[in-house]
Amino acid sequence: SEDQLRQSQKMEAIGTFAGGISHDFSNLLTGMLGYCDLALAMMSADDPVRRDVSEIRALAVRGTDLSKQILAVSRKLVVQPTVLDPNTVIMGLDRLLRRLMGEHIEVSTTLGGDLGTIRIDAAQLEQVMLNLASNARDAMPSGGTLRVSTARVSEAEVQTFGLDAHREWIVIRVADSGVGMTDAVLEHIFEPFFTTKERGKGTGLGLPLAYGMIDQAGGEIRVNSAPGHGTTFHLLLPRLGELPTDLTVEEEVPEVLTGQ
Ligand code: ADP
Repeated sequence: SEDQLRQSQKMEAIGTFAGGISHDFSNLLTGMLGYCDLALAMMSADDPVRRDVSEIRALAVRGTDLSKQILAVSRKLVVQPTVLDPNTVIMGLDRLLRRLMGEHIEVSTTLGGDLGTIRIDAAQLEQVMLNLASNARDAMPSGGTLRVSTARVSEAEVQTFGLDAHREWIVIRVADSGVGMTDAVLEHIFEPFFTTKERGKGTGLGLPLAYGMIDQAGGEIRVNSAPGHGTTFHLLLPRLGELPTDLTVEEEVPEVLTGQ
């Protein structure tokens, strides 16, 4: 719709803007790093200021990492939505997810029938799945099960999820048997930079990004979680129409066919 178009243009503008800023910051920080190294090289080993300069250097390194992440994120905001079969994307990720989960986490994938198509940037959908999967892995330090599934959303579920009843919906679920979340954590998970992970491990950007990407595709995210009972993320996406028999993934379908 026009609204979605405007929204994605806004995201794209933010992407370009943030990309420019983080690029400039990167250059500044690289300069700082260089001068720190020069200063350190000129100081004697027992110089009392050495520790302070080293601290400045460490902070500049963190700043560089952060601005690299922002740059990567802003590149991803420039979207190329295509009409695709969600099952194809999920199947395509299966091996990667198994590798990501490692030996102690079992992965089960269940593909629903009659899903039709969705309209989304394939790379973004993959990124969302990877963000959810890596959180799931972190939530299962001593092993467990990751369940990935796709399905049509029933009319009853459309009600429970509070979705627009004039549309058809599909769901991609990512469920783990991990530690789960308290309500206090759940309240904040979509806020940028919110993380419960130790310093250096979490950026707090995975879920806000996932939220933005799904939102951009006209979808919604719902979460069920409780401490000790695992977590389920529901990615709810508008169903466009039947899958044309000759459709291959990432092929653009004329708007007429998709009823948009
Ligand atoms: P990060 O993973 O870098 O911390 P995210 O935005 O991806 O950032 O996640 C924010 C927080 O949400 C995590 O730090 C964690 O507390 C919580 N969280 C996300 N996914 C799960 C999950 N599957 N199980 C338990 N907690 C989770």
